[in-house]
Amino acid sequence: MIFRLPKSRGAAEGDKRNLLTVPMLPLRDIVIFPHMVVPLFIGRERSIHALEFAMGQEKHILLCTQKDPRKDEPREGEIHRLGTLAAILQLLRLPDGTVKVLVEGKSRAITRHFLPISQFFQVEAEELLESWEITPETEALRRTAIAGFETYTKLNKKVPQEAMQSLVGVDDPGRLADTIAGHLSIKADEKQGLLETLDASRRLEQVLGYVNRENEILQIESRIKNRVKNRVKKQMEKTQREYYLNEQMRAIQKEMGEKEDLKGEIQELERRIRRKKMSGEATGKVKHELKKLKLMSPMSAEATVSRNYIDWLLSLPWQEKTRDKHGLEEAERILEEDHYGLEKPKERILEHLAVQSLVKKMKGPILCLVGPPGVGKTSLAKSVARAMGRNFVRLSLGGVRDEAEIRGHRRTYIGALPGKIIQSLKKAKTNNPVFCLDEVDKMSTDFRGDPSSALLEVLDPEQNFAFNDHYLDVDYDLSEVMFITTANNLFSIPPPLQDRMEIIRLAGYTEVEKHLIAEQFLVPKQCLANGLTKENIQFSENAIFTIIRQYTREAGVRNLEREIASISRKVAREVAREVAAKSKEHLVKVTSQMVPKFLGVPKYRFGRTEEADEVGLTTGLAWTEFGGELLHTEVVVLPGRGKLMITGKLGEVMQESAQAALSYVRSKAESLGLPSEFYRKLDIHVHVPEGAIPKDGPSAGITIATCIVSALLKIPVHRNVAMTGEITLRGRVLPIGGLKEKIMAAHRHQIKTVLIPQDNVKDIKEIPARILKAVDLVPVDHMDEVLKAALVLDDPDSLFKPVPPLVAPDAVYGPVEPPTAEIQAH
Ligand code: ADP
Repeated sequence: MIFRLPKSRGAAEGDKRNLLTVPMLPLRDIVIFPHMVVPLFIGRERSIHALEFAMGQEKHILLCTQKDPRKDEPREGEIHRLGTLAAILQLLRLPDGTVKVLVEGKSRAITRHFLPISQFFQVEAEELLESWEITPETEALRRTAIAGFETYTKLNKKVPQEAMQSLVGVDDPGRLADTIAGHLSIKADEKQGLLETLDASRRLEQVLGYVNRENEILQIESRIKNRVKNRVKKQMEKTQREYYLNEQMRAIQKEMGEKEDLKGEIQELERRIRRKKMSGEATGKVKHELKKLKLMSPMSAEATVSRNYIDWLLSLPWQEKTRDKHGLEEAERILEEDHYGLEKPKERILEHLAVQSLVKKMKGPILCLVGPPGVGKTSLAKSVARAMGRNFVRLSLGGVRDEAEIRGHRRTYIGALPGKIIQSLKKAKTNNPVFCLDEVDKMSTDFRGDPSSALLEVLDPEQNFAFNDHYLDVDYDLSEVMFITTANNLFSIPPPLQDRMEIIRLAGYTEVEKHLIAEQFLVPKQCLANGLTKENIQFSENAIFTIIRQYTREAGVRNLEREIASISRKVAREVAREVAAKSKEHLVKVTSQMVPKFLGVPKYRFGRTEEADEVGLTTGLAWTEFGGELLHTEVVVLPGRGKLMITGKLGEVMQESAQAALSYVRSKAESLGLPSEFYRKLDIHVHVPEGAIPKDGPSAGITIATCIVSALLKIPVHRNVAMTGEITLRGRVLPIGGLKEKIMAAHRHQIKTVLIPQDNVKDIKEIPARILKAVDLVPVDHMDEVLKAALVLDDPDSLFKPVPPLVAPDAVYGPVEPPTAEIQAH
């Protein structure tokens, strides 16, 4: 560094004036300017001595910067000679032995001599004083410097805001330069250079140069910072992406783990395939599917489909079977043990079993048990399974309307499953169960295909060894299965299906039979089900009859069983309570008087047919799926215009029967003693009570005709005569169906006489002898006979005597009171 001594005039004069003896403090790497107030931390012993000495004097000290900041013990030549003379404002000794000192720069000073003191530097220095004047140039310089410094303070966050304030009012360019230089972050050397530049304008110029340089650097720095910031941001984004990718990787790894699970599962399936005996085709299919499964992602939807398919194939009974018991006596014993009566069906079943035991593989017809509900069709099929030692499955076809329910959906459909046949076989666990197809008559057909044709394939022994379910897509041999079907009536079974089946009819039970069934089967069964024994509950004979007569009206025994179950539950509750209280057995004897206590008020009137013989009220007989039923018909004759009103939700056939009946009566008007135009002034209203239940059928003709005649002639009808038969316009009585059920219903209702079509006499042999003894059957061929038998007449033959009308029709057929007697509800 060039050291220039000021050549000012003051220098020569001030040689003596400004020469001072002061302690000197070497500074490592800072340069203190005049007017600066700075704290210094002093650790070197020599320096502390210098300070202490100064404190003892005028508190003046010369601050000179070392040439090499690394030197701990700088010597004379290693310290800049020009420094700043400063006043010590404050001195603080810190606990670690160092000293904090606050100094204020006063003026520049130059070391002239080092005095020989060993503990610290004591020098003789010359204070350099400056003078200045304002020229436009320095003013311009000053303003530029201030503006530059302002920018600097804004760019450099380290400069305190007050720094700008300290410049306010500083006109002296030298002082301005020093103050700015004090705040600049420039190298110590550069600062020393400024300190040594004694010409104020030049110094300010140099400072301006540094300020501009620094500003530029700071701007570049800020640009760099921004760039770095952006880069960091990008980096962050990258990190986030990496995080996301990592997560994905983890998911993949997890899946790989699941792949391991799948491996285990596949091994398990392979093991099952090895052990399972299947048809060759099925084995091929299942192996092929497994191969596909291995290549699939374990969580995919298709893997689930594949897995389900394999599982279905593996869980079907392909070769598993039970060994048949062929002992016919044993089979007979079991059938007897499970069911009362039903001789004919049992006999037929035993024949079937006998043939099967002889031919080993039966290709004969399928048994179809037909009868009203609750007569024991399903339970008979179950008994057959027990008798043969086979497993039993039951499948209700009621409401099945879609072919796919029988045959399954193709695997391409979502959620596809095998059909009900295959599903039931899985439940059966063997390939030769007794398979009860319940309610074959309740299947219906719609646009989704005809389930009965699929069922044909199932039941046809010529085809069913290779039954192809859409889902399995493999032939399954159904020929070992023993199918038994049940139905309530034959009419709704499609003829081709009927053709495959051998019909066995179960007609329904008489009261006495029901009583025996209840006593021998239903009561013990329900006792067992409800945890009761003979010591807890006993039903008297009358109690059972009361239930049969007043709480049920059915051909079978299902409701009877339900009512017995209901009583058993209530008794069980009572017994449990008593046993807990008295800790001894408790017996409840159920008598007929107690039945209403358990079951509430009787649901049906029994033994009380109409109390009197009524005009315009006849008892017909109907046949329903639930067996035979009584069907009352009412007729009233009202003044009117010859209208025939028919109410009671009658079907077309019955409406036509009513019209035919009226036409018959009109054609017979004269011989019945009616005025020839009698109908012109009358309305005839035919009503069949229980109007909410639709009724139809061709057997109500004679009933309606009798009723109309009775109403017109005001002759009552025998209340315990029932009738069934269709009528022609000429009064001929035509045969009907379901005679047995109808007669049994009449018997149930205590009807004494039943008029039946002559042509139905051949069916009488089907009716149990016990009933024939109780009910008098009168075959009729013509309506005349019906009227003679049904109307209450002293002399039946007088009915058809040709009698001319004696009185005007209006007087004869004045307002007729409708029958007042209560109509028996069913
Ligand atoms: P269906 O299938 O004809 O509608 P179920 O076979 O379900 O009737 O029979 C109903 C109930 O009546 C069963 O508990 C059954 O054991 C019983 N049952 C029906 N008939 C007899 C009978 N002859 N002997 C013993 N119990 C019978």
